[in-house]
Order: sequence, then C-alpha cells, then structure tokens
Amino acid sequence: MKNFDWIVVGAGITGSVLSYELTKKGLNVLLLEKDPNYSNATRYSYGGVAYWSGTDDYSIQLCQESRDIYHSLSQELGYDTEFRELDLMLTIPVNENPKTVRENYQKFFIQPQLLTPKEATQVEPLLNPDAISGCLQLPHGHLHPQKTNDAYQQAFLRLGGTFNYEKVTQLLSQNTTVTGVKTNKEEYFSENVVICAGGLSHSLLKSIGINVNVYFTHSQLILTPKVDIKLKSLVMPAILNRLDIEEKSGETGIESLWNNPSDQIISDVMEPGAIQFLDGSFCLGQISQIITDPKAKPNQENAEKIIREGVSKILPQLQDLPGKLHHCLVAFCPDSNFLVGKINQFKGLHLFSGFTSTFVFAPPLAKRFAVWVTDNYEKMPSLLS
Ligand SMILES: Cc1cc2nc3c(=O)[nH]c(=O)nc-3n(C[C@H](O)[C@H](O)[C@H](O)COP(=O)(O)OP(=O)(O)OC[C@H]3O[C@@H](n4cnc5c(N)ncnc54)[C@H](O)[C@@H]3O)c2cc1C
Repeated sequence: MKNFDWIVVGAGITGSVLSYELTKKGLNVLLLEKDPNYSNATRYSYGGVAYWSGTDDYSIQLCQESRDIYHSLSQELGYDTEFRELDLMLTIPVNENPKTVRENYQKFFIQPQLLTPKEATQVEPLLNPDAISGCLQLPHGHLHPQKTNDAYQQAFLRLGGTFNYEKVTQLLSQNTTVTGVKTNKEEYFSENVVICAGGLSHSLLKSIGINVNVYFTHSQLILTPKVDIKLKSLVMPAILNRLDIEEKSGETGIESLWNNPSDQIISDVMEPGAIQFLDGSFCLGQISQIITDPKAKPNQENAEKIIREGVSKILPQLQDLPGKLHHCLVAFCPDSNFLVGKINQFKGLHLFSGFTSTFVFAPPLAKRFAVWVTDNYEKMPSLLS
C-alpha cells in the first residue's frame, strides 16, 4: 500500500508546476501521467506568456508575479526554459477598423500600441501589409513549453517527488471522502488528490458524478522542423473568435451536450498564428473545434490546408514550410480565467485546470495553492459544481 500526502493527476504544465510547488513545501507528492509521448496541450502550445492580460487587482498581481517568476525560473529549476521577452503582434483583418479593435483591449492593464501596416512590417518583416488594416503590439513573454514542463518535472524529482507514467482509471473514495486513485497498474492512497488532467478533467470528474465548469476544445496545429526563415515576434489575430465559442459552449442548453458526448462539431474557428522557437522550428496554428467527445478525431484531411492558407495570408513566406499536423485537447472554463480550489462534494478532492492563459497564471497560482495547503487550507477557494 503506497501512501502520499498529495496525488497530482496529469503532467502537463499545470500538474508539473503544482507538483513542484507542493514538494518544495516538504510534501510527499505522487505525479501521474498517462502519456509518455505527451500529445497534450502543453507540448503543442506557442508558449506565450501574456503578462499584460490582467484586468483586475488580483489578475494584475498574478501577472506581475508570473513575470518575476519566469525571469529567474531557469536558474531556480537548473534547466533552461528559453524564457525571453518578445513582441506580440496581434493582426487586424483588412475589413476591421483598427481603432475599434483596440478598444477591446482597454480592459487590460498594459495597453497595446496601434501600428499601421507599414509600421507593423518594420517590427515584423514577414507580415503581409496588404492583409491587415493594422496591428496591436504588446510586450509579451515567451518560453519553450515542453522544456519548461521538463524543467519543473526534473526539479520536482530532485526534491524527492515520485513520477509514474500510469493512467488514472478511477478516483477512490469512501462515502464523500477521497482516499486515493486507481491506475492501470495499481492503487495509491492519499487524503488529497488534485486533478490537472487538462481537457480530460471534465470526464474524469464526471466519472464520480461531479459536474464542473471545465470543458475542452479540440485544437489542430502544424509543427515544423528547424528552418532558416526568421520570425521576430509571436503573431496572432487581434480578434480571438475562440473565446466567443468557448463562452457559448457553457450556455444553458449547449451545456447539456457535454453530458452526452458526441463527435458532432458544435463550433469551429481558424485563428492564423505563428511562433518560432529558439531552435528554429515553428508552431503554426490553429484550428479550435468544440466537439464534446474527447476521443473524437477531428477531420484532418483539410485541416493542414486550412491552417497553411490562413497563415500564408498573414505571413506568406511560411506557407510551404515542411511540417506535420497535430491534434490535442485544450481545457477552458467559459466564465473565468481558471478553476482552482477544493471541490466541495468530496473532501480531499481539488481542481487546478481550465486556464485561459495557462503560462501566465499557473505558476503564481501553484505557489498560492501550496501556501493554502500548508499554512491556510480554509482560505483555499471552494469550487461549486
Ligand atoms: C496551438 C496552441 C497554442 C497555445 N498557445 C498558448 C500560449 O501562447 N500561451 C498560453 O498560456 N497557452 C497557450 N495554449 C494553451 C496551453 O498550451 C494550455 O492551456 C496548457 O498547456 C494546458 O496545460 P494543462 O496541464 O492544463 O493540460 P495538458 O498539457 O493537456 O496536460 C494534461 C495532462 O493530463 C494527462 N491526463 C489526462 N487524463 C489522465 C489520467 N486519467 N491519468 C493520468 N494522466 C492524465 C494528459 O495525458 C496530459 O498530459 C496554446 C494551446 C495550443 C494548442
């Protein structure tokens, strides 16, 4: 019988950073991950750190803490996360009024600079000035998502954490108290379990009758090998239609579709974007689809063509880069930036998922989570279901 202080389910960035912070507090932590190949959202992410995106005192404070954390993280973890400051270039389509689009960014505590198409190409020479009516420029952070995940895991192991590649198949409980988890290999016991299973958090909790407001999109993107072209910034659309479809997917009526998963597409969007990592490889994105069955395989036949066409309008030189299409699930919460806290129905059960800007919010919230656990458990937020 193996006992731990905490069991963390899922080793994407949320599970890895939380395991590290809990272990740093002297707790005996087991981290469980089902997929040694990491076909998850963290691996296929751009790795942008939107530290400008705070909108109220709390989120602004988290953004500032996040920026501080990343500046010394490689040193703290003893492994290069490739963190750097990088311009974010948010492209505005030709048919949109740039000033109106900029107004939507007034809620953020760092305001973007509005650039004309010509000014935008001076910052990012690969942009096609004829495809945009302007660009919003923001100071952004960037890191290598999988290397940052590895860095947290290595530091967690050095502190004495236990990390097993096993799939959690069942949450164990007695009455309404969590007692541990069952995996495809064995049972582990703990009075505290935290779900960091990304897009699968919803179905894992559903399996014990808990309905939380965390859902997922199916995302498709292209990863390329190292190439000689140089992109100087992270490029994304200024109007993120994905946020609209995520919000709609939590509305009454549509919500019931999550209880009867199907591979019918409720909604999909293509948002042309690109980032180049320090090794010269690119991630080109992305198609986001709401399909309530997590096991559904979205149609990949046209996806690569659609992504290449979308990206090539904005960044023509990237159209024919060699590359391979990938698919993953991305967790989101329709009405807040994240769902972090205790799940009231089951004593000892917790959630750390549903982040909108995971790379900015997860590290400072993991630190807070570890402080709540060790010093002030009553203060940890309770999540209603
Ligand atoms: C193309 C693209 C670009 C993006 N760009 C950005 C960006 O610039 N900035 C940003 O902040 N975010 C970005 N994101 C989103 C971000 O990558 C994700 O929100 C984040 O990586 C999610 O981390 P996670 O740990 O919640 O989930 P995941 O990384 O998906 O990890 C969850 C893990 O749980 C494991 N798991 C699930 N069920 C079980 C089980 N039963 N037992 C054991 N293990 C289990 C899974 O195998 C998986 O490894 C992007 C996403 C995509 C796809």
